Amino acid sequence: MSTLKLDTPLQYLKGVGPKLGTLLAKRDLRSVGDLLHVFPRGYEDRRAMRSIRSLVPNQTVSLKAQVVRVRSIPLGRTRRKIWEIVLKDETGQISCKYFRSPYRGYFERFEPHQTVRVVGKVILYRNNLEFHHPDIHPINVSEEAEKDELIPLYTEIEGLSQNKFQKLIQAALQLTEIEDSLPEEIRKKSELISLKQALQEIHNPPLEHAEKILKWRSPAQIRLIFEELFWVELNLALKKSGHQLEKALPVKAKLSRKGELLSRLPFELTQAQIRAYEEIKTDLAKPHPMHRLVQGDVGSGKTLVALLSALEAADAGFQTALMAPTEILAEQHYRNAVKLMEPLGIQVRLLVGSLKTKERNQILEDLISGEAQICVGTHALIQKDVEFQRLGLTIVDEQHRFGVQQRNLLKSKAVSPHFLVMTATPIPRTLAMTVYGDLDVSVINEMPKGRQPIVTRKAFESKRSLVTGFVKEQLQKGRQAYVVCPLVEESEAMELKNAQDEYLRIQKEFPEYKVGLLHGKMKTADKDEIMRAFRDNQIQILVSTTVIEVGVDVPNANIMVIEQAERFGLSQLHQLRGRVGRGEHKSFCILMLGYALSEEGRQRAEIMEQTTDGFKISEADLEMRGPGEFLGTRQSGLPGFRLANLVRDLDLLQKARKAAFDWVSKDPSLQKIESHGLKEHLDRQLENWVG
Ligand code: ADP
Ligand code: MG
Repeated sequence: MSTLKLDTPLQYLKGVGPKLGTLLAKRDLRSVGDLLHVFPRGYEDRRAMRSIRSLVPNQTVSLKAQVVRVRSIPLGRTRRKIWEIVLKDETGQISCKYFRSPYRGYFERFEPHQTVRVVGKVILYRNNLEFHHPDIHPINVSEEAEKDELIPLYTEIEGLSQNKFQKLIQAALQLTEIEDSLPEEIRKKSELISLKQALQEIHNPPLEHAEKILKWRSPAQIRLIFEELFWVELNLALKKSGHQLEKALPVKAKLSRKGELLSRLPFELTQAQIRAYEEIKTDLAKPHPMHRLVQGDVGSGKTLVALLSALEAADAGFQTALMAPTEILAEQHYRNAVKLMEPLGIQVRLLVGSLKTKERNQILEDLISGEAQICVGTHALIQKDVEFQRLGLTIVDEQHRFGVQQRNLLKSKAVSPHFLVMTATPIPRTLAMTVYGDLDVSVINEMPKGRQPIVTRKAFESKRSLVTGFVKEQLQKGRQAYVVCPLVEESEAMELKNAQDEYLRIQKEFPEYKVGLLHGKMKTADKDEIMRAFRDNQIQILVSTTVIEVGVDVPNANIMVIEQAERFGLSQLHQLRGRVGRGEHKSFCILMLGYALSEEGRQRAEIMEQTTDGFKISEADLEMRGPGEFLGTRQSGLPGFRLANLVRDLDLLQKARKAAFDWVSKDPSLQKIESHGLKEHLDRQLENWVG
């Protein structure tokens, strides 16, 4: 009796009245298909009932217990608080902690002596076993059957019991005719079960798949995870084939001044630099635009690769625009470019916001007349009136600092320029495949010779005087130091105050040296001035908030002290550390840790001590924070996955990517009949993705 379709509005489902309909619509559940795609966030494994005393860390378990007490605990002086529910059974007690409330009134439902079921992962925290954010629901002891079962657990919707929700799902499964969203050919090749069967089994897990389910590899899970990743990859495959259909002028050098440039460098290119450059050169010579990402750890020498590419363009008679996120960084690139290019007779210009009108006008003229071949700049480059005579190559440095729109604006300065983006935030392979999957990637995975590894040490407040003494020693040797102040999530005002306090403290502690202060509230011009003074060693200690994170090269600075390092994310710590170790001096990164150190904070500090490999760090970071947090708000285009997990699902991602790219190579704009359903589905998916 299949009367509904996946796109049938929910009010046609038996049991959904106007009131429930509104409640569900608030959660964006409008069609039967929406409902069926609310997947369990886990399964309660009733086969192994446990007692509190038998718990061991890191296991996900289900147990029955009584509520002892419920309370909220204020966190220090902040307005935040944590909630705690203490549970007991005949064998012991355990605390359940929540760092945020699932919804208002969530905790008010519990009272002492009540019998509940708790499902969650056991965590070892300061020598105690605890649950963090477990699922707890009151149970009716007489009703609950003690069966061997896997019970799907859904994220709670306020005003709707688990029980009622499960009934809705079951009704929808029974009454809906489920058409498959993937063509049979793909299902066969990738060995996937049908959507119908997958939805059945995800909501009614067969016991014989229990082991696989707990590892997220049951046939139903595989099919549904594959599908989520497939839409992302299909979208990327189409974008990429779109790039390939675009026409661009091939950049083929008529002469080559590369040898001359390299002969004047005081060092040799690394193998990785050569490889990246060759890949770019090959792309440039093609009649369609390059879309390439150069990924390389901080200090791996990406600028030189960019400049060599610009030289290649100049040798072919094309202009290059190189955009950097800050004025000081643009200036640094400009100086490098001038030093390397002008002896070859190549004119370089710097276009930034702080120019006087007259200077700016002159530069605009040089760009449109073709007098200048390379233009380095900031956002000033993407202003409307900036025009080029023959722009062939656009390069974006530290691309994660720009929005998609800004990058596109730079591209729009020519009809179809070759496009190169560079990033010093190495990202794990899975993320690169989902976020930059339409780009070709060059990886610079090698540091220039002779770099000494940066020594990283954590230090507790009690060792402060030792740290101060050590910094003094280095300053006496003529070196310079960065001191970075803690990140304050709650308020910028606090962050600023911290930085100012630290500035005063450092001034007192180092009276014989010049100290500078850099923070985000300063005007760009003032920031740049301080940065220049530090670069020129007029300032020896630079106290700053995280604004110094990006790209600046001060080879004489060899100490990075990060205050309250536990507050920073791993990638950010790594970026900060990358400010030192850029010259011949042995460099040090000191992670100052507060006493209220969380387990995660300690782990991060230890990872920093153990490795300087940006890729390893970014993988650990992704694992600890998840993709949304990892990428930050600037990156868009990544859907919120329901089942797929970019740390866990590399295998399925590769499979989905292959299927999508194979399909698009045979049908580049989804014109064929077999592709029709796909196109509709993809369009619907795209509507749901933000960005
Ligand atoms: P990033 O990849 O972080 O942008 P940069 O391009 O700023 O790194 O390079 C960092 C420093 O390394 C610069 O001072 C640059 O001159 C130097 N450098 C680049 N390539 C090499 C090399 N092959 N050998 C030695 N030093 C190099
Ligand atoms: Mg750089």
